Amino acid sequence: MANTTSELETLLMERSLTDAQLLAAAETASDYRILPDATVIKIGGQSVMDRGRAAVYPLVDEIVAARKQHKMLIGTGAGTRARHLYSIAAELNLPAGVLAQLGSSVANQNAEMLGQLMAKYGISSVSGAGMSAVPLAIEEVNAVIFSGMPPYSLWIRPSAEGVIPPYRTDAGCFLLAEQFGCKAMIYVKDEDGLFTANPKTSKDATFIPKISVDEMKARGLHDSILEFPVLDLLKQARHIKQVQVVNGLVPGNLTRALAGEHVGTIITAS
Ligand code: ADP
Ligand code: MG
Repeated sequence: MANTTSELETLLMERSLTDAQLLAAAETASDYRILPDATVIKIGGQSVMDRGRAAVYPLVDEIVAARKQHKMLIGTGAGTRARHLYSIAAELNLPAGVLAQLGSSVANQNAEMLGQLMAKYGISSVSGAGMSAVPLAIEEVNAVIFSGMPPYSLWIRPSAEGVIPPYRTDAGCFLLAEQFGCKAMIYVKDEDGLFTANPKTSKDATFIPKISVDEMKARGLHDSILEFPVLDLLKQARHIKQVQVVNGLVPGNLTRALAGEHVGTIITAS
């Protein structure tokens, strides 16, 4: 290990930071999982929060019960209000970075509301899911709420086409799970999982219980139930090798997924 470190140090001082030998040496440094026992859960914006009480209250109850056994980082989506903002701002010719800031405020609003609903259980929302309050909350009450939008803001890398920010809350939650080396990533949405086509518009769509990123792309499903950049993030990840998408409108699904059961669709890196 000492050798590897000094070799890496030498390379870092002398080479370009994208030099192949330097990258290989950096690769051998062992990965540290910061929060290995925690699961990241994304509560959908359009798919869950926007449905209001009927969808949200039962999930709050499930989360409160589940935290006796599970450590959870709960991220929020943005949803319909963000889509409304995007349409206004895009029509005004504003750039992706401005839209990213606007979308962020909506994910914040959803985190704020979930935080108020869970306050009496000692579960609160933190602004910015960087470390600060997260480890203490996880240690003490097993759960914490954060805004799922990644903080790229004005610095978001724009899409090749259009001004919609490509990395939104599905990506933000995934990246947090990956950077913290968490145990699992669960997306709570409003369909049973991935289907052969959008079940809201194709009545003959059939359910797909398990699929890899490559199969999803081959079947033209890369832009469907998850923001498509998540698929590439998943393929490149070191820690998170699969994600699970469950229907949060069915009571018990989240609890079962947390327990490691195969409910919904599992999307695997390979
Ligand atoms: P969220 O609010 O959690 O971000 P979205 O509404 O963005 O959720 O994404 C979930 C939606 O994706 C589902 O409600 C469904 O209508 C849609 N969808 C599109 N294609 C598919 C598909 N092939 N399988 C399942 N859902 C799909
Ligand atoms: Mg979405």
